[in-house]
Amino acid sequence: MKRWSIKIKIIFWYTLFFALLIIFDFYFLRTSASRVLTDQATMDVTTATIEVADMINVEDDGIYIEEDDDDQELFSFYHDGVVFLVYENNNVAFGNAPDNFDATTSIKLNETQSEEFNGMNWLVYDMTIENGYVLRGIYDMNPMMNSIEQVILIAGILSPIIILVASIGGYIIIKRSFKPIQDIYKTASIIKDEEDYTRRIETSFAKDEVYALADMVNQMLDRVEQSINREKQFSSNVSHELRTPLSVMQAQAEYMFKNAKSPEQKEEIQTIIQQISFMENVVTQLLEITRTRQLSNDDMELINLYELVKLTSDAFSKNLSDREITLRIDKPLFETNIYCNQTMMIRVFSNLIANAIKYNNDSGEINISFQLENQYIVTYVKDNGIGIPKEHLNKIFDSFYQTDEARTQNELSFGLGLALVKEVIKIHSGDIQVDSKQHEGTTFRIYLPSSNIK
Ligand code: ADP
Repeated sequence: MKRWSIKIKIIFWYTLFFALLIIFDFYFLRTSASRVLTDQATMDVTTATIEVADMINVEDDGIYIEEDDDDQELFSFYHDGVVFLVYENNNVAFGNAPDNFDATTSIKLNETQSEEFNGMNWLVYDMTIENGYVLRGIYDMNPMMNSIEQVILIAGILSPIIILVASIGGYIIIKRSFKPIQDIYKTASIIKDEEDYTRRIETSFAKDEVYALADMVNQMLDRVEQSINREKQFSSNVSHELRTPLSVMQAQAEYMFKNAKSPEQKEEIQTIIQQISFMENVVTQLLEITRTRQLSNDDMELINLYELVKLTSDAFSKNLSDREITLRIDKPLFETNIYCNQTMMIRVFSNLIANAIKYNNDSGEINISFQLENQYIVTYVKDNGIGIPKEHLNKIFDSFYQTDEARTQNELSFGLGLALVKEVIKIHSGDIQVDSKQHEGTTFRIYLPSSNIK
């Protein structure tokens, strides 16, 4: 199921709740209003009929109503909003029934009847008066019903608009309230993607819960940065400290090799020399990584990347021919000038080409090509070698990381090459990405800013 954002969830529930509340309110309003008004009308028709029954006299020539001054005048059959009829033997004897009212409705004495004819509503009250006549009071409910219906209609049209306005207003407020959290998320993503642990989350907003969260994340980042710096410092210190003793050991071992008395002794010393040079290589690469981190703008110069790659690859002609691997470098149709530290950039492409050879099959192929993408020069280093299993892909740039296959194949490699490559590319404001399929080959994409944007 598609996951809804918290914003949408809140708006959905709030709108639904609001809509249900309004529907319930209308229903309640309609029923209670019509009940109250019907009760009032019942009372009006009953009171008016009893009052009129008390005041009228039926004469042969018509019905008369007594006035305050004891005079009599002809009754108009209308009093306090009620229309009257006088029945004799169930037939209308005096008065005119209102339009749409069926005057033949049976008489039920002393009780209020609710009648409906053709969708029109009436309240009727009957009571006997002198000489067997029956007085009927008729109350027209239709104006009252129409006003209730009109109120409901207007409310029915207005409510969706009110709900819509409330939802949009609510959405805007919630979006604003969530903005600081979204900012935290964005900054955290940038920190993760760029591995830039010097960045911090902006905490200039009000000192509320979100501020506390951002502050906490920043404190955690302080610790991460400190431990990364400690680790960098540690490996830099260790490499520096090991350099001199290793050189001394190397010289001593070579001296012992020369003066060895037997071939067995020579072989043993040779193994020691190999191990020392392996350790020297590790130390050199660690120092190179440290040096890369300390590169400044003054160490950069304008270099043609295509020429640099060509030059670098020349050093591998023997390794290539030994294993009958073909290396093709496609000449780009655009300028490939970049600002870089030449020595470090040569290290980058040396490592990538060395790996493309090392992890290739005999008679394999390597292809290097260039493309221009949004002011970045993208260099593709592609081989059709053994490839990298998917689960290792995101770790190969870590220091000392090797796939098991690589570990057993190359006793003299130690998984620092790509860590250095990544560090150099990062210091040049670039990026490196890898695509690989096991047994099919690997492609490294190196993004470097073209000198045009410097
Ligand atoms: P290593 O010294 O082991 O070559 P790197 O840092 O250069 O160390 O590479 C790390 C790991 O990435 C290697 O051990 C290997 O498993 C894998 N790798 C690097 N380049 C390639 C490639 N072109 N093809 C296959 N695997 C590769």
